[in-house]
Amino acid sequence: MTADVIIIGAGVTGAAIARELSRYKLKILILEKEAEAAFGVSKSNSGIIHAGTQNPPSSLKGWLCVEGNRLIREEIAADLGLDFAQCGQLIAVFDLADLPELEIIKKEGEELGVRGLELVDRAWLDLNEPNISPGVKAALRVPSAGIISPYRFVYALVENAVKNGAELKTERKVTGIRPQKGGGFEVVAGGEVFRARFLVNAAGLYADEISAMAGAPTFKITPRKGEEYLLDKKREHLSNHILFPLPSATSKGVLVIKTADGNPMIGPTAHDVEDKADLSTTEEGLEEVLAGARRLIPSVSKSDIIAYFSGLRPVAGKDFIIRHEDSAPGLVNAAGIQSPGLTSAPAIAVMVAGILKEHGLGLEPKEEFRRLRPRPVHLFQVPPEETRRLIAKNPAYGDIVCRCELVSAQEIRDALKRGARTLDGVKFRTRAQSGRCHGGFCTTRVIKIMQEELGLPATAVSKRGRGSELIKDERK
Ligand SMILES: Cc1cc2nc3c(=O)[nH]c(=O)nc-3n(C[C@H](O)[C@H](O)[C@H](O)COP(=O)(O)OP(=O)(O)OC[C@H]3O[C@@H](n4cnc5c(N)ncnc54)[C@H](O)[C@@H]3O)c2cc1C
Repeated sequence: MTADVIIIGAGVTGAAIARELSRYKLKILILEKEAEAAFGVSKSNSGIIHAGTQNPPSSLKGWLCVEGNRLIREEIAADLGLDFAQCGQLIAVFDLADLPELEIIKKEGEELGVRGLELVDRAWLDLNEPNISPGVKAALRVPSAGIISPYRFVYALVENAVKNGAELKTERKVTGIRPQKGGGFEVVAGGEVFRARFLVNAAGLYADEISAMAGAPTFKITPRKGEEYLLDKKREHLSNHILFPLPSATSKGVLVIKTADGNPMIGPTAHDVEDKADLSTTEEGLEEVLAGARRLIPSVSKSDIIAYFSGLRPVAGKDFIIRHEDSAPGLVNAAGIQSPGLTSAPAIAVMVAGILKEHGLGLEPKEEFRRLRPRPVHLFQVPPEETRRLIAKNPAYGDIVCRCELVSAQEIRDALKRGARTLDGVKFRTRAQSGRCHGGFCTTRVIKIMQEELGLPATAVSKRGRGSELIKDERK
C-alpha cells in the first residue's frame, strides 16, 4: 500500500496530525502497534488543557501549548463534541515571600500570550475555594486552563480524520524502515510493507527507536513516570479549580485535578525511570501524592482513592523535538512530547503540516473538509428529562449495563460502531467498568454486547488486544 504520508503512532500527537492533514487531498495512513488508538501515554495523564504558564517563554512547548489551548477552546472542543470544561487553575503559594515567583510565572505567561492572569489573595480564596488549605496565602489565577477526557479527545480526532479519508491500521507494530533510493520509505509493520514519500514519527516513548530505524539516531527518550490517584465521585466538588503548587525544575508538582468525568484526581509524581514499560505504582508514590495533595486540600483522605495508574512522559531533553531530519529526507519527528503534549497536539499538528509543506508535500485543500463530529450521548452527562426522551425513542438507553457510572447498552453499541474493539476501548469511550466496582457487575454484559456487535466468540474478546482475552475455552 502506498500513501503520501505514513504517521507512526495513534496517540494524541499522531491523531491530531492525521486530522490536520485530512483537510488536504492526501492519502494518509496511521500505523499503530496496539489494538486501538490512545493506548499509549495519551491514556495515562492528568487530562489538563494547560494555559501555557510554567513554561519558559523561549520554549517551543510553551508557544505550542498556548496555541493548542486556544485551538481547543475556540474551535476543536465544539467541532468534535469534546468534554472540555474551562475551569481555570490556581498556582498556590504557602508563604507571601514566594509572591515574586508567582509574578515571574505571570510575566512569562503573558510573554507567551496567556491572557487573564491575576494574583488573588486569601479573601478571594475563601470565597472561591472553600476547601483549600488555610496554609495557602495567595495564588495566581489562570482562567484559560481547563480539563478534557484525554482518550475521548484522541478518539474524536481519529474518528474525524477517518471520516475525512485517513486510514488507521492497528496491531501494526513498525519493525523496520527502509529509506528508498529515489526518496520515500518502505515501512514494515505487522508483516506487511507500506510505502510513503513522507514519514511522521509520533511514536511517543518509542520515537527514538523509530527515528533511528529511519536513519536519524539523533535523540534518546527517557521515560519520566507520573503516578496518579483517582478519587471517588462523592468528592467531585473538592475544588473548583485545578490546584497547583509552585513548579519545580522537572515538574509542575503534585496537583489536585478536576476531571472531565467528575472524579477528582491527585498526582502526578515525576521520576525518571529506565524501563519504557514500567507502569507500576508504588507505596512511596502514593505517600508523595497524598502529602502533596493534602498540602493543598487537607481533607483529602486515602480512603477516597478508588483507582490508580501511572503514565510515562516521553522526555528528550527540556523541549519537544519537532523537525525534519535532514539525515533521513522525508522524515518529520514529533518526539519528546512530554507534558503539555495533550494540550499542544493541535498546534503541533499545524506545525508538522507546515514542515511537510516546506519539504515538498503539496497541501491542496479538499473541496469539503468535514470538521464536525456529532457528540456521543453519555447518560451520566444528560439531565433526567433528556434521558426520558432518549429512552422513549430508543429503549436500549434504558437498559443500564454499568450501574456505577450509568452507562446504557446503547452507549456501548455506539462506542463499538465508532471503533471500539476491546474492553478497555469501550471503557475509555463510555466509562462502563470504571466505577467503584471496576466492572465486577458489567463486564460480562459488555462482553455479550461486543459478541453481538462485532460477531466475535466470547473467547476472542480481549481487555486490550491479543493476549489479554478474559475467557478461555478449556475444551481446546
Ligand atoms: C502522568 C502524566 C500526566 C500528564 N498530564 C498532562 C496534562 O495534564 N496535560 C497535557 O497537556 N499533557 C500531559 N501529559 C503529557 C501527555 O500525556 C503526552 O504529551 C501525550 O499524551 C503524548 O502523546 P503522543 O501521541 O506523543 O504519545 P502516545 O500517546 O504514547 O502515542 C504514541 C503511539 O505510538 C505507538 N507506537 C509506539 N511505537 C510504535 C511502533 N513501533 N509501531 C507502531 N506504533 C507505535 C504507541 O502504541 C502509541 O499509541 C502527561 C503525561 C503523563 C505521563
